Amino acid sequence: MEKKLILKKDKYKSARGGYSRLLNLHCRKCKHVFVVYQKDGPGNLRRLYMDRIMAPEKLVGLQRKNIKDVLPIKCDNCGFIVGMPYIYQKEKRKAFRVFQDAIVKSIKKLK
Ligand SMILES: [Zn+2]
Repeated sequence: MEKKLILKKDKYKSARGGYSRLLNLHCRKCKHVFVVYQKDGPGNLRRLYMDRIMAPEKLVGLQRKNIKDVLPIKCDNCGFIVGMPYIYQKEKRKAFRVFQDAIVKSIKKLK
């Protein structure tokens, strides 16, 4: 059974208007869903904040690692590299800088 995903509510969410949704992020190449992500507020996905990655389990909690120990994020099905780890200075927040057009997104319905 799939684990129930609960949206995070914190200062980052409030800073973006307090509205969030869950997205399935698909690899552009093979369409595999490689991450479930909480997107706060409007706008495009230019970066993936590590603290907003909800699944898979092995990619959850990366924000607690040293940035130097975080590997580029890639599709676990075909190996396509989607983004590179960095620190988003404005918020001092760990994230992946996403390559342009690397991701296709779709809305994930909350059960
Ligand atoms: Zn892929």
